[in-house]
Amino acid sequence: MDKITVPFIMGDGVGVEVTPSMQTIVNAAVQKAYSGQRQIEWMEVWAGERAFKKCGLWLPDETMEAFRDYKVGIKGPLTTPVGGGIRSLNVTLRQTLDLYVCLRPVRWYQGIHSPVRHPEKVDMCVFRENTEDIYAGIEWEAGTPEAEKFYRFLHDEMGVTKVRFPKTSSFGVKPVSKEGTERLVRAACRYALENKLPSVTLVHKGNIMKFTEGGFKKWGYELAEREFGEALADGRLVIKDCIADAFLQNTLLIPEEYSVIATLNLNGDYVSDQLAAMVGGIGIAPGANINYQTGHAIFEATHGTAPNIAGKDIVNPCSIILSAVMMLEYLGWKESASLIEHALERSFLDARATADLARFMPGGVSLSTSAFTREIVERIEK
Ligand code: NAD
Repeated sequence: MDKITVPFIMGDGVGVEVTPSMQTIVNAAVQKAYSGQRQIEWMEVWAGERAFKKCGLWLPDETMEAFRDYKVGIKGPLTTPVGGGIRSLNVTLRQTLDLYVCLRPVRWYQGIHSPVRHPEKVDMCVFRENTEDIYAGIEWEAGTPEAEKFYRFLHDEMGVTKVRFPKTSSFGVKPVSKEGTERLVRAACRYALENKLPSVTLVHKGNIMKFTEGGFKKWGYELAEREFGEALADGRLVIKDCIADAFLQNTLLIPEEYSVIATLNLNGDYVSDQLAAMVGGIGIAPGANINYQTGHAIFEATHGTAPNIAGKDIVNPCSIILSAVMMLEYLGWKESASLIEHALERSFLDARATADLARFMPGGVSLSTSAFTREIVERIEK
């Protein structure tokens, strides 16, 4: 029997509702697809408020070790600690394991309300660089000695005279490297080829930030030419680029022009949320953080802990369920992934969903989180 151990973080707030829902559905799909020949052994590891209450730590070392040892894991949403040493648990997890790709597939499911007229034309996969850019957290607050020192360095040693209000300016540094760009664009090109997708678009703001975002574009094209020259020549792969602001417009006007998106960290943040909103919102958008070189991957609910609806059995568990679908595909357990996806598709077509989605569906039936979980399990088992 093929048994795999998957460490999971339950998550805070609605995490304790969506994570067990996802596990129940995944277990049913794996059982149905492989009749007991394959099995997932879930191993709870601790992080966030639950961990803090249990052992006084927001992110115990054992949690990092489990993700390092078992390579593939999944997590619910975490409360961001206010004050204290850790800025963001998610960022710490990504940086410690060097999970350099934030992968966000965006597709529309028939039956789900969308603010755009042709959501069926939205079918993209965003590869967001996850370790560089302004997210590196190198910044100094206005009025501090560090900001003053940094300004003096800029002015006195680098000859920078363009800071309009130096005394009241905060400063941030935006590192973007050739290596960082190349590994991200390589992953995006490979993904496009493996999945026979029509194009990879480099989304950047290189017209203004010539060396950082412009570097991303230049290094991206060069990498594609160097490593995927044959596929580019015979038309299996198309690589193009788009300036970030035009891209956001184009996603609304001509979404069918885009397939795989490779972009920097901050652009990726904006782009992922806009695209998610176009197909049904954060309750249903899945995501993963991956290092394709080491194989480490953490799949995750993309929404927060939703304290306003926690404990009410109304939260939509689809984000973490679809993240689990991505995880099963990543593990090569594609049959079980398809079973879950088809069950969700059929349920949405029948207008049966949690309230956040059902209330916009004609004749929609609002199901509680637990009833929706049972509904999907029944559809899988049928
Ligand atoms: P949120 O995503 O928790 O909630 C925003 C709004 O969306 C709320 O009205 C909520 O009810 C609704 N919502 C979110 N997920 C939903 C779902 N699955 N089904 C139905 N409705 C849903 O964002 P927030 O309120 O800004 O943040 C709350 C906490 O979560 C904060 O501590 C924040 O730091 C944390 N957070 C964590 C993550 C993560 O772990 N990945 C992401 C974002 C926010």
